Amino acid sequence: AAASARDAQRMQAMGQLTGGIAHDFNNLLAVVLGNLELIRPKLPADSPLLPRVERAIWGARRGASLTSQLLAFARKQPLATAPIDVSAMLPDMATLLRRTLGAPIEVRVVDAAGLWPAMADATQVESALLNLALNARDAMPNGGRLTIEVANKVLDADYAARHAEVAPGDYVMLAVSDTGTGMTPEVLERVFEPFFTTKEPGRGTGLGLAMVFGFAKQSGGHVKIYSEPGEGTTVRLYLPRAVGVAAAVQRPSAPVELPRG
Ligand code: ADP
Repeated sequence: AAASARDAQRMQAMGQLTGGIAHDFNNLLAVVLGNLELIRPKLPADSPLLPRVERAIWGARRGASLTSQLLAFARKQPLATAPIDVSAMLPDMATLLRRTLGAPIEVRVVDAAGLWPAMADATQVESALLNLALNARDAMPNGGRLTIEVANKVLDADYAARHAEVAPGDYVMLAVSDTGTGMTPEVLERVFEPFFTTKEPGRGTGLGLAMVFGFAKQSGGHVKIYSEPGEGTTVRLYLPRAVGVAAAVQRPSAPVELPRG
């Protein structure tokens, strides 16, 4: 499932197309929602039309939330890239994940002493981690173990030669593993494609891994997925090491928004 230059090109074209469509849709949905919300308080409490209007509002809201995810994916907003201490971000992330994923999923954190500072956007790192964790949850409907591991990794010329578009060098690795269903080679090959999902309509957008992939590329990093049906999945995100600077702990200004479920 190595991402090729062709994947990157296809993603860019998709991004431009969806960005334009999503923008127009967002405006149209705002018109629909605004008018429905004007109508609702005018209806008597026992009106048989009330459940219809509420259902329509629900649909328009769901559409708006989908288009805003599309926009976030397509926007390519500039990253707030800075040296960050990924180790320092882990305790809060673990707390958030334990709360979000619920009891049948055990969350384990494997920190590394002396982890290098990474050069990345802290908010995007958190949102990538959250996306990976939600995928892990979906792959473990009966519970299981989610492991977040960080480590310093030197990717050598040999590794770079085997993985197109990776520059050899020092990276901070952030790996998310689950003990879930795993993926067949056919699924694994397509996971970075925007809109590719095996989930029921309404549960998956197929944008999670496309976003993680785009973020890694934009950061000068790399994503690699190992998965076996029945064995579970490990997603490794490599972020470039920040050199010649002390890491500052970056806090995102707004609380992390939880996509779906
Ligand atoms: P979505 O989660 O909305 O489907 P993603 O791009 O995040 O979109 O994932 C695409 C597909 O990759 C998923 O539908 C699923 O089939 C597969 N997948 C992703 N992560 C995992 C995982 N941890 N375990 C098993 N399958 C996964």
